[in-house]
Amino acid sequence: MNLKMANKLLIGSHVSMNKPEYFLGSVKEALSYGSTSFMFYTGAPQNSFRVPLEMLRIGEGKKLMSSSGIEEKDIVVHAPYIINLASPKEETFNMSVDVLTKELKRTHAFGAKTLVLHPGSHVGGGLEFGINQIAKGLDIALDQANNDVTIALETMAGKGSEVGSKFEELAEIITLCKNKDKLGICLDTCHMSDSGYDISQIDVLIEKMNETFGSNRVKCIHINDSKNPRGSHKDRHANIGYGEIGYDIIHRFVFHPLFENVPKILETPYIEEKPPYKEEISMLKNSYIDGWMEKFIK
Ligand code: FE
Ligand code: FE
Ligand code: ZN
Repeated sequence: MNLKMANKLLIGSHVSMNKPEYFLGSVKEALSYGSTSFMFYTGAPQNSFRVPLEMLRIGEGKKLMSSSGIEEKDIVVHAPYIINLASPKEETFNMSVDVLTKELKRTHAFGAKTLVLHPGSHVGGGLEFGINQIAKGLDIALDQANNDVTIALETMAGKGSEVGSKFEELAEIITLCKNKDKLGICLDTCHMSDSGYDISQIDVLIEKMNETFGSNRVKCIHINDSKNPRGSHKDRHANIGYGEIGYDIIHRFVFHPLFENVPKILETPYIEEKPPYKEEISMLKNSYIDGWMEKFIK
């Protein structure tokens, strides 16, 4: 018999994790959007203060996940922004390695297998220096944490001195690392377009991945429209269909067979303080609704 069950679409959004329900609340939020996957920060993205794991209601969250069909391997953690492995300041580098090590351990405690990380900004230290420091820092943190979590390096928009806006840079980091089997890639549709890639040519883009880091390394895809045209290096996310990329191209990414088993995560902006994810997920599963945002606001 050669019958293959059609896999479910792996889609979700970033969700919050706040008291009093913490991780249980994150799972509930994801389910309220009709998600089959989700991404979260294990604390505030801007700092390294972290509520102890025992308080985060992880067991209850995992239970709700298993009874509602979200698998642990399909959830993703995003590392805090304060980590900058490419920093020319020794103090910042050491702090970054330390926070990253802790974050790898925390990710493991939630059952997640993927930790998304911004490679870093070299802030004047130079691109090659930045790439070398990132590779060095990744190896130290991965050795120290020594678990089954993969770090997915995010494709960046190329704002300021960000490292990783070119596939070649990400590939070079991986080449320099000893722990290659624990490194993956997180594509971000807004960032790739802002960096200059023509993401309407998805198969050309995949070929480009295969010439560099290899498309099999893609562990997560951030699904965002962009407020700015291709090559703008701005990194301003837009709601689906309300940016320069548009619904059709984003839809093609979401349903590309190569990425069938890769979680697709929306990081689009809130509209009048309300999350748009239920509507955006439903549109990606069905079809685009013209003027949906106007209806959403009412
Ligand atoms: Fe990110
Ligand atoms: Fe992103
Ligand atoms: Zn972004």
